[in-house]
Amino acid sequence: MSAQIIAVANQKGGVGKTTTVVNLAAAFSQRKQRVLIVDLDPQGNATTGSGINKAQVDTGVYAVLLGNSSIQEAILPAPSGGYDVLAANRALAGAEVELVQELAREMRLKNALAEVESQYDYILIDCPPTLTLLTINGLVAAQSIIVPMVCEYYALEGLSDLIATVRKIRLAINPKLDILGIVRTLYDARSLLAKQVDEQLAKHFQRQLLQTTIPRNIRLAEAPSHGMSVLQYDPQARGALAYMALADELLTRSEASV
Ligand code: ATP
Ligand code: MG
Repeated sequence: MSAQIIAVANQKGGVGKTTTVVNLAAAFSQRKQRVLIVDLDPQGNATTGSGINKAQVDTGVYAVLLGNSSIQEAILPAPSGGYDVLAANRALAGAEVELVQELAREMRLKNALAEVESQYDYILIDCPPTLTLLTINGLVAAQSIIVPMVCEYYALEGLSDLIATVRKIRLAINPKLDILGIVRTLYDARSLLAKQVDEQLAKHFQRQLLQTTIPRNIRLAEAPSHGMSVLQYDPQARGALAYMALADELLTRSEASV
């Protein structure tokens, strides 16, 4: 059995991609799943949020993409426990420029992950909010995508941008890329706007819309500054329970599709 490789992506910024990657990784690992996070964002928030000091990362995803390190050597255990990380640091921003000159530049991550995928159940890729060569590497390596979204006025527009991107990637290079789920984050069930967006989502994305919603929860915002997931920081917080429920929903879905 090899891993399910899932990119967490949305071209809109600040919608909870990184928060979802870190907390879903921690939740899956509590369910005895072997998890690797790939931090493709030069901001390195998934790295820091996992308790790894990005200033001290010499060999991370950057070195792997450029072929300067084997992926096996570059993978670090998250000190907060439970899962592994292929870390980012600032140098990753330069990978963009350097990769452009390389052969098979969109395939770099996919090829690297092939070496380790048998060691994991889930590989979660944190994509930056822009459609760069790094994001394309993520979408080419992935079998499916989880899209975190905030139910606000422009949310559906952001979603159609992503769907247009997925279509292009499918045509060009990764025909099986699928949207596994749309997860509503920073969610406020009382908001009228959220209800309207929910209706639209249920109408157009019935199959992909995940039932679990992630509430706005201050503990989720605090946890990264302590270098841990909310599951370690405050396991009873509403945000922690929501990410456990999300992991369980996804586990049930993958059992159903076997
Ligand atoms: P970017 O596009 O910059 O990579 P992102 O989509 O990865 O952003 P996050 O970094 O996960 O988004 O979240 C943006 C901010 O909102 C962060 O400060 C995070 O701590 C906070 N946040 C995310 N989800 C929640 C939540 N459910 N409740 C409260 N705060 C949250
Ligand atoms: Mg992020």
